[in-house]
Amino acid sequence: MASRVGILALQGGFEAHAKILRALGAEPREVRVPDHLEGLDALIIPGGESTVMTLGIEREQLAAPLRDLIARGTPVLGTCAGMIMLDRDHLGLLDVRAERNAFGRQLRSFEADIELNGIDGGPLRAVFIRAPWISERGEGVSVLAELDGHPVAVRQGNVIAVAFHPELAGEPRLHELLLGLDRAPAEPA
Ligand code: GLN
Repeated sequence: MASRVGILALQGGFEAHAKILRALGAEPREVRVPDHLEGLDALIIPGGESTVMTLGIEREQLAAPLRDLIARGTPVLGTCAGMIMLDRDHLGLLDVRAERNAFGRQLRSFEADIELNGIDGGPLRAVFIRAPWISERGEGVSVLAELDGHPVAVRQGNVIAVAFHPELAGEPRLHELLLGLDRAPAEPA
């Protein structure tokens, strides 16, 4: 049976993720209310605007069910604003502090080729749009990639977060990694 992968779809760029998941044979499901989290094998929190996403999560009372799902070991990938949503100051599922707009605002949108620990086949094409970087992290968090000396891809248990948009570059390898993760209890953040 195809993996059912939820994509938080309150706001932001969920369609490009869905397209990559379909190409990999998974079944994407847009998540807008808590019921949509039932029976998911994995979850993606996409890019967008973390302030707007925070309001949507409050409005739909999604914080507690999202925390439960991820604490049960469901693999999750956060991209850009998704990385911010996972940090200590937001959902608290990743023991890091993500600094918003760390590369600067609109003018600092750029593409880069990034070597990622654990991903074979050469560097990933990564699109950075008003991207965060990790300014603080706990011991349980491993850095998968850095740019300009700052972590831009991290992992803690089954929680993976990247500061960039792999989906906008048509880059499927992080989604493949997500689909290949076993459901195991995530280490507490
Ligand atoms: N700057 C946005 C924020 O702080 C994130 C941008 C993105 O997801 N591309 O939420």
